[in-house]
Amino acid sequence: MIYDEAIETMPRSELEAVQGERLAALTARVYDRVPFYKKALDDAGVSPDEIKGLDDLKRLPFTRKRDLRDNYPFGLFAVPMDQVIRVHASSGTTGKPTVVGYTRADIDIWADVCARSLAASGAEPGMMFQNAYGYGLFTGGLGMHYGAERLGLTVIPVSGGNTARQVMLIQDFMPHVMACTPSYALTICDRLIAAGVDPENINLRTFILGAEPWTDEMRKSIEAKLPVNAVNIYGLSEIIGPGVSNECVEAKDGSHVFEDHFIVEAVDPETGEQVPDGEVGELVFTTLTKEAIPLLRYRTGDRATVNRERCICGRTHARMGRILGRTDDMLIIRGVNVFPSQIEAALLGVSELAPHHRIIVTKKGNHDHLAVEVEAVQATDDAGYNTLAARAKTAVHEILGLNVDMTVTPPNTLPRSEGGKLSRLVDRRNA
Ligand code: ADP
Ligand code: ZN
Repeated sequence: MIYDEAIETMPRSELEAVQGERLAALTARVYDRVPFYKKALDDAGVSPDEIKGLDDLKRLPFTRKRDLRDNYPFGLFAVPMDQVIRVHASSGTTGKPTVVGYTRADIDIWADVCARSLAASGAEPGMMFQNAYGYGLFTGGLGMHYGAERLGLTVIPVSGGNTARQVMLIQDFMPHVMACTPSYALTICDRLIAAGVDPENINLRTFILGAEPWTDEMRKSIEAKLPVNAVNIYGLSEIIGPGVSNECVEAKDGSHVFEDHFIVEAVDPETGEQVPDGEVGELVFTTLTKEAIPLLRYRTGDRATVNRERCICGRTHARMGRILGRTDDMLIIRGVNVFPSQIEAALLGVSELAPHHRIIVTKKGNHDHLAVEVEAVQATDDAGYNTLAARAKTAVHEILGLNVDMTVTPPNTLPRSEGGKLSRLVDRRNA
């Protein structure tokens, strides 16, 4: 189902005209209201009245995470504090959290894009929704909560964690849709299976998963455990929270960016130049409509492709591919750029390996060194684990051209997500 048919299927020429008008108004607004942007635009030699449409986007300066940190907590706000009705903060995965604010209109837009996301994933009014994203400063829980109410779902605001209770609610309240991190979805699936729950006796058919990188191979693993559609949702607190983009369940082939609110670009991380559609670049977003903390050309650090081809679902909004990883998570091993997600994809190509692994980075001399631990699906003996390890090593070598130290461990030995983001990367380079 398409939540906002008129907007989500708008011809691209019209959509781009709307974006252009909004970009011009946005530039004038931040110039007047945010000292940081007045200076940034002055330094770039751009006068706001020169920004007339989408073609002028490239002239605008970038905003970086450190600019939010330098103006911590509220320095980039573009409205007086009495108009800010909510604050959130990023999870702080990569350092001090960045703080964001919302006016009443911002909360309204956010509910709308989350309603669009839920509908794109397959949710329909009247369905029951178990929201296992964390409630609190993290944007996931409250963002999806408001979106679900907007769409007309019955929300179970259970938040993340307490897996025993999640499993009980799935059986007793019979939710159709659940949102959480992909690593937590694995935990939930395994607990349901371990409890002997017959999938036919529960209603859960849709997982909306995001907040951390995952792969199509991981989607296959999850969908093999339960008869569900596992659909990708993407967002970051700086831009609004969840609901920046979402896959449609029809195609499951890239996440539609809600472009009437957010302009998306993919740029070369070194030069800042836009890369052609279909090529991997760093995602950059401009918030067209947000009031409390509007951002021009925000560098996310997330690497992915963007394409504007027509989608079978009827939506015209651009799609971004899977996040390969954050710039911060990119490893350079013997001169080869490696994203943890590439290792995940390689490992999941070996059917005897479970979707649980850990990547340990250490320093040997001046070089980064990779060791990978991955679980076997079934227990075996040492010789069995060694044979599997050799195959896993070959699978990684085939994709990355790298030899890594590979250990296959018995089932249920590596850390699981207990409700939130799970980092599979253990960085011991400074240890
Ligand atoms: P933090 O940056 O502290 O984790 P957020 O909670 O705002 O703060 O998380 C946003 C980040 O989470 C994104 O920039 C991205 O790296 C990651 N993320 C969110 N959704 C997805 C997704 N569907 N796939 C991959 N990564 C995602
Ligand atoms: Zn689509």
